[in-house]
Amino acid sequence: SKVKVAINGYGTIGKRVADAVALQDDMEIVGVSKTRPNFEAFIARDKGYDIYAPSDRMDSMKKADLSVMGTVEDMIDVADVVVDCTPGGVGAENKSLYEKHGVKAIWQGGEDHELAGFSFNAVSNYSEALGRDFVRVVSCNTTGLCRVISPLDKEFGVKKVRVSLLRRSADPGDIKKGPINAIVPNPVKLPSHHGPDVKSVMPHINITTTAVKLPTTLMHVHIVNIDFEKDCTEKDIEEVLSRQSRVRFVGQGISSTAEIIELSRDMLRPRYDMWENCVWNESISLYEKELYFFQAIHQESNVIPENVDAIRAMMELEKDGEKSIEKTDKAIGLI
Ligand code: NAD
Repeated sequence: SKVKVAINGYGTIGKRVADAVALQDDMEIVGVSKTRPNFEAFIARDKGYDIYAPSDRMDSMKKADLSVMGTVEDMIDVADVVVDCTPGGVGAENKSLYEKHGVKAIWQGGEDHELAGFSFNAVSNYSEALGRDFVRVVSCNTTGLCRVISPLDKEFGVKKVRVSLLRRSADPGDIKKGPINAIVPNPVKLPSHHGPDVKSVMPHINITTTAVKLPTTLMHVHIVNIDFEKDCTEKDIEEVLSRQSRVRFVGQGISSTAEIIELSRDMLRPRYDMWENCVWNESISLYEKELYFFQAIHQESNVIPENVDAIRAMMELEKDGEKSIEKTDKAIGLI
């Protein structure tokens, strides 16, 4: 029988994880939780998901004529694993609930590493997640970095990594965040948290990062700089990255994040999601053994395949990370 998955927090990440899980043949969605009876709740209902709500929100749901199956606790009771996609910091409060109900849980990058005690990225440490009860899928930026650092490290040995992150400041549906006309060094006190976050997955990597927020909602862009132990050529780098299903080379007139999103729309990807890191392979350059390249990261969707793989590892549905990655990618239409 299929592994039963519940989504606690049906927002930007939660709704995408739900749809990706629903496409797998070894897992199913048994419920999604909503706090408000808004349009997203009604769409979720129309898609056929069972809706649950925190106990103090049940009345407002009923008043809006949205039928609710039960409380969040009821949802957890029917699940084998809960994917907590509540806003950063909120997820931590749910840990005791998951423990009480003896259910496995996945948190997202907005929570601290210590909450789950294990931070996950599919190509970097899939096998270490096998059978675990608690896992944290690292943030969009960290996922994007791990996907390129891990395979390059295995091949050439990474001496040090330096990254400048140019971050989108809000998601497209978010009307509350900014800036709308400024470039914001964030944080000003360096380094940014992204470097240490990569170390939560790969502790041996020497990495520091800096970040600025930009008035855009589409994607992040990373300027990646890596020093290697071994000699390698630009061609070698390109070859290693080309073998990664979750790295897509972009060219053919794509010179910006806007055109990447246009590409995704032309591909009829759901919600214009771009699950892969988009690497401008033309930018791959070595100067005195230091590698430089640009990559763009679609923050709303790149962690979605990793959540599916994390479920598969925790439930030991597949022991081999490469096989899980391929299965996930095929089911969602990435490959
Ligand atoms: P979001 O605000 O879009 O969605 C959160 C959802 O949780 C909302 O639907 C909200 O109503 C619901 N919610 C709030 N409190 C709740 C509660 N107590 N119980 C149940 N549901 C509750 O947030 P998001 O952007 O999807 O982020 C979720 C997590 O994913 C965070 O940890 C975030 O850091 C991480 N993340 C976000 C992005 C991104 O770009 N948006 C990328 C990677 C990781």
